[in-house]
Amino acid sequence: MKRQQYLVIGLGRFGTAVATTLYQLGHEVVAIDEQEENVQRIMNQVTHVAMVDATDERALAAIGIQDFDVVVVAIGADVKANILTTVAAKSAGARYVVCKAIDDMTRRVLEKVGADMVVRPEHDMGVRLARKLVRPHSFDDIDLGNDYAIVEVHATQRIEGSLRDLNLTNRFGVQVIALKKGSQVRITPKADDRVAEHDTLVVVGTIESVEKLLNYAE
Ligand code: ADP
Repeated sequence: MKRQQYLVIGLGRFGTAVATTLYQLGHEVVAIDEQEENVQRIMNQVTHVAMVDATDERALAAIGIQDFDVVVVAIGADVKANILTTVAAKSAGARYVVCKAIDDMTRRVLEKVGADMVVRPEHDMGVRLARKLVRPHSFDDIDLGNDYAIVEVHATQRIEGSLRDLNLTNRFGVQVIALKKGSQVRITPKADDRVAEHDTLVVVGTIESVEKLLNYAE
């Protein structure tokens, strides 16, 4: 797995969980907060820490924000700081910014000012919990550990034809568990099923094998 570089801004409960988990998964993580005690607390659990006011665009540029693969803005309660930080991060050249929003209005504002992805942890977790209660064996329940993954692969021209001819199991070591064509989903597709450009394949395999396929599909 390629080692990615992450910048996590705001080390409350959510930011701390994101930063320490990314680090445990083998990635490089720089974690920043404006409060010294929050920075100190996480010091030995990530690659680097810094005390920075993240609404300051120049300070973000100085820590090389444009070099990170992903920036996570994990500021919740202080909506103004959250929005200003997102604007500063994008202006300073951040490539991909994921923001946490406390409500739907904040989500909309964050998307308008350029957030690439917005999560609403409490809302999203509530939805997941409800689904899990109704369908106990849904997708989210499968804990594949750190070595395996289920991923969606968007079919490009390189991945067209029947599953038999594509021969993904022998070539990449992955199993196709579903084939999505628009709103139609074919579960456990057969060898004769054909994949066309823009279809989506859901595959399971080792992290290494699914990455090999994703790179090939690009
Ligand atoms: P949670 O609900 O996940 O605990 P909080 O909103 O309580 O999240 O925590 C946000 C964190 O972001 C706090 O640790 C706070 O010090 C930090 N923070 C808030 N504003 C800024 C800012 N301008 N620059 C850097 N860190 C900030």
